[in-house]
Amino acid sequence: MHVDDIDRVTVLGAGNMGHGITEVVAMAGYDVVMRDIEQELVEDGYDDIEWSLQKLGESGRLDEEPEEILGRIETEVDLEAAVDGTDLVIEAAPEDLELKRDIYTDLDEYTPEHTILASNTSSLPITDIAEATDRPEQVVGMHFFNPPVKMDLVEVIYGSETSDETAEAAYEFVEAIDKTPIYVRKDVRGFVVNSVLGPFGDEAAWMVSNDEATVREADATMVHERGYPMGPFELADLTGIDVGYHVRKEAGDPIPPVVEEKVEAEELGQKTGKGYYDYEDGDGADYGPEDVSEDFDWLRVEARIINEAARLIGDDVATPDAIDTGMRLGTGFPEGPCRRADKLGLDTVLEKLEDQLEATGEDRYEPVDYLVELVEEGKTGKEAGEGFYEYDTGSGPGDYHTINWELSEDGLLEVELDRPERMNTLSGDLTEAVVDLLNSIDDDEVRAVTFEGAGDRAFCAGADISGFSDIEPAKEAEPGEFFETVANYPRPTLAKIDGYCLGGGLELAMACDLRVATESSEFGFPEINLGLIPGGGGTQRSMRMLTEARAKELVFRGEHIDADRAHKWGLINCAVSDENFEEVAGEFIDDLVNGPPVALRHAKRVMNSGQDQDLETGLDLESQSFSLLLTTDDMMEGAAAFAEDREPEFEGK
Ligand code: NAD
Repeated sequence: MHVDDIDRVTVLGAGNMGHGITEVVAMAGYDVVMRDIEQELVEDGYDDIEWSLQKLGESGRLDEEPEEILGRIETEVDLEAAVDGTDLVIEAAPEDLELKRDIYTDLDEYTPEHTILASNTSSLPITDIAEATDRPEQVVGMHFFNPPVKMDLVEVIYGSETSDETAEAAYEFVEAIDKTPIYVRKDVRGFVVNSVLGPFGDEAAWMVSNDEATVREADATMVHERGYPMGPFELADLTGIDVGYHVRKEAGDPIPPVVEEKVEAEELGQKTGKGYYDYEDGDGADYGPEDVSEDFDWLRVEARIINEAARLIGDDVATPDAIDTGMRLGTGFPEGPCRRADKLGLDTVLEKLEDQLEATGEDRYEPVDYLVELVEEGKTGKEAGEGFYEYDTGSGPGDYHTINWELSEDGLLEVELDRPERMNTLSGDLTEAVVDLLNSIDDDEVRAVTFEGAGDRAFCAGADISGFSDIEPAKEAEPGEFFETVANYPRPTLAKIDGYCLGGGLELAMACDLRVATESSEFGFPEINLGLIPGGGGTQRSMRMLTEARAKELVFRGEHIDADRAHKWGLINCAVSDENFEEVAGEFIDDLVNGPPVALRHAKRVMNSGQDQDLETGLDLESQSFSLLLTTDDMMEGAAAFAEDREPEFEGK
């Protein structure tokens, strides 16, 4: 079965996950039947979808009317009718193996022979579920994250009998519904994301149990020093302390005493009003930067996370890339653990594990073979040129993990900021990648550059604030270098803005020569709300680009303005509807790519540098460039084409 053969989808369960999966599948244009065991339950699920589509529509995130999407969804209570003629079943029934096996036995009987059966289980072995059918090769895991509409990641899991054909169809289906799949090639407990996430909470819980840290210190340090979106204890309170407890019990892993105590006291987290923090009488997870502790051994936590990642790679369960994508999209890790490990140095990580193992004798620090091998082979990370990843040490642009780029034959360099899970915010890696790309690409091959953001929410929502506390100002590359490299790039640049364009993102857009935006985009400098000012040229470029009153309004008030206002103010060249965005941007790009390269280069230079000179100096610059251009082949070609009434073909000579 190939993904192109999937037309009709059935989702089993209209609960939390089922209704969300149904919504996402219908949004991608598929006909989908949502089935639950009672009419009331399917109706509740349908109402939830309706509400959510309404919200998405209001925020401009739908390509069509909610009614059209709803029109593709049918609800059913009868299983046989629900799967009639279906090509793919996605099962999101309760997490109970016996129940699921019953469902799969029925599915085997009622679905057409070719149908793929996918389970959204978070923790049950796909192999055990598949055994209930006579087609285990067509059973696969398709693990969405909660809520499916927001969360981009889906793990595609092989059971022991799953065929490559089935897994590939499932993987491509996930792409077809605009989500990001990762392969989990073996049916391991916790799959990839929960396996790698495990030590995050576990190690912190041991440290607190052993009186080596407090709950607040652990949470504050991991969030404010290491950039995680949530502290390990805050996370445990959110997911339920009993959940982690049962996972360890089932795996036969030792349970840290603090976890045991909380479970015994029935203080299970937010759902019981109290866990590690008090949500009823207290302020919940009320730690802050003041709780950060230099003594908190975060490397111990990260070393265990990295060890777990190495185990999965060594056992051929997942690639470093799949793990990093999974952790970024599935849990909001600030960067993938494999990337982070390569930066920390795998030798440093291994040493931490070995020291701990020696000091405590605890199995959980046992370094896995794959990590040991890498270090023995000298593959200790980025500095060594290879670790989990290989690093490009040659000259010329490389493969970057925070941006995508493509240079077309006609010379259009398209740069996409690729951190959609963090609204494409500017991390050190990302700005370095852009600088490296622009510095190392042969600019004779480039005629124009565009910048855009991945995903559908943001062009770029600013600097990655989670990295701030980590910044050592002296060590950090000048933030100015990034914006100046863009501003001074010798070819015309265009920012294609769809969504949030804030702070550093707006500064990037302003460092470009031209800006085209969708009507739903928003602009602003929120820095003042953090007690800061724009630091990437925003105060200066806005004063030059806008009136003083408008520039100061943006910087002082820190509020967002919409695209219409931004256009009236002269901040952007035009604001267009979603439908016309690509077309209008394309018209700008055509002119830039097909225009005379030498003249455009000169125009950019004299206009940029002339504006800071007095008029006379500016006019001098202009006239020097003008005389020089009079001698170019391009000028001759332009004049000839004009006389012959045809399109000129400029060669940049
Ligand atoms: P839920 O309890 O909200 O929904 C389950 C629904 O399935 C209920 O409405 C129930 O009536 C229905 N159901 C029961 N038997 C059924 C049957 N035979 N056919 C069709 N529907 C049936 O549970 P949920 O949170 O949506 O979880 C569903 C699955 O998704 C579980 O396997 C869970 O492990 C997995 N999952 C959950 C999350 C999460 O965060 N909630 C995340 C990822 C995966």
